[in-house]
Amino acid sequence: MPSGRTHDSITLWSLPLLAGLTFASTQSSSLTLCVSGSYLFSGLMFGPDLDVYSHQYKRWGLLRWIWLPYRRSLRHRSFWSHGPIAGTIVRVAYLLIWVVLFSSGGIVVGAVVVQLAGKTNDWFVLAQQWWSHSLMVLGQLPLQHPTETIAIALGLELGALSHSLSDWLVSTYRRAMNRRVKKVSPSIKQILPPNLASPSENTAAQHPPFLGRSSPPPQPQVRREAQLPPFGGKGRGERSEK
Ligand SMILES: [Zn+2]
Repeated sequence: MPSGRTHDSITLWSLPLLAGLTFASTQSSSLTLCVSGSYLFSGLMFGPDLDVYSHQYKRWGLLRWIWLPYRRSLRHRSFWSHGPIAGTIVRVAYLLIWVVLFSSGGIVVGAVVVQLAGKTNDWFVLAQQWWSHSLMVLGQLPLQHPTETIAIALGLELGALSHSLSDWLVSTYRRAMNRRVKKVSPSIKQILPPNLASPSENTAAQHPPFLGRSSPPPQPQVRREAQLPPFGGKGRGERSEK
C-alpha cells in the first residue's frame, strides 16, 4: 500500500484538477469551495486510514482519542472503512455521534451555569429546550442547503475514493509482480548449474559466517515504492501506513 506521504501527495496534486473541474461545471465559487474543502479534509484527516495509527489519525491532535473506538472495532482496510460510500457514511455517522455528545455536554454545563447565575430555576428544562432546538437546526441544515450538502458529501467521498483506489492499485501491482517473480524463479533454477540453482544449500559454503574478519553477508535488496514528488518540498521520513 502507498505510504501516508504518497496519499497526501495524491490528494494535494489532484486538488487543483478537482477544483478546476468543479468550477467549470458549476460556475460557483461556493460549491467549488465545498467540494475542494471537503476533499482536502477527507484526504488528509477524515479518510479510510483512521482505522489504523496513521497520518490521518495523528492530524486530529488532542482530539485523536475520539477515533480509538473506531480504530479498535474495525479491521484495517475492512469494507466499513475502505469500502466506497459505506466507509464515508460510517465515518460521518461516527463523527456525528461525537458532535452530539460534545454538544450535549456543552448544553448541560451551560444550563447549570445559567441556573447558578440565577437566570433560571430549572437547568434541566432549559437544557432540554436548547437540546431540541440544536437538533432541529442540525436536521434542517441539509434541507435548507441541499446543493452545498451534496457538494460536501461528494468531496468527502472523492477524497476517500482516491485513497482506497491508490491502495487497491498498489496492492494489485505488487501481487502481479510477486506472481511474475514466482513464475520466473523455477525456470532460472533449470538453467543455472546445481551449485547456483539452490543458493540456500550453498550459501554456507560460499559465505562463511561473518566473524568480524571476513566481509559481511550480502544485504537483501529493498524494493522502493514509486512515489509522487512530495507536495511543498522535502518532508521528514515517516512511517508508512499499511
Ligand atoms: Zn488505506
